Amino acid sequence: MSDWNLPWNAACLCGQVKMRITATPVVSMACHCTGCQKLTSGPYSLSLLLPVDGFEVTEGAPVVGGLHAENQQMFCPHCKNWLFTRMPALPFVNFRPGMLEDASWVRLIIETMTRERLPYATTGAEFSYEGFPAPEDYGPAMAAFADHGARPPAN
Ligand SMILES: [Zn+2]
Ligand SMILES: [Zn+2]
Repeated sequence: MSDWNLPWNAACLCGQVKMRITATPVVSMACHCTGCQKLTSGPYSLSLLLPVDGFEVTEGAPVVGGLHAENQQMFCPHCKNWLFTRMPALPFVNFRPGMLEDASWVRLIIETMTRERLPYATTGAEFSYEGFPAPEDYGPAMAAFADHGARPPAN
């Protein structure tokens, strides 16, 4: 597919950390869990799952924060924005699309942990799970995203 208009530039709120995305994302997600509610100070977290080879920090030095767990939630050392999550066991990075120069085009394909969803928090996601989806559930969602997931507008 050539209609993704890559690469994309991204930055944290203060601009110390800059990132570059050069590969097509695999799927878009919202997570309603109470952990994500606390981390974002909002109703849910947003993710674009990116191939690890297609994601690069080009400026600044993100630090581990959040739960300091095996999956490392990475933050700007200055403005403390939650930027992305490294997942050492998987060939993907969970990138927060709010860091993109233009995040207005992003639409959600998967929503997870709806059993902890705040009553007013709706996402329009096509695939909805009360918990976290099983690994085999990602196949159909990724296929839907590749087929008709929202693309950024042409520059
Ligand atoms: Zn969550
Ligand atoms: Zn920052």
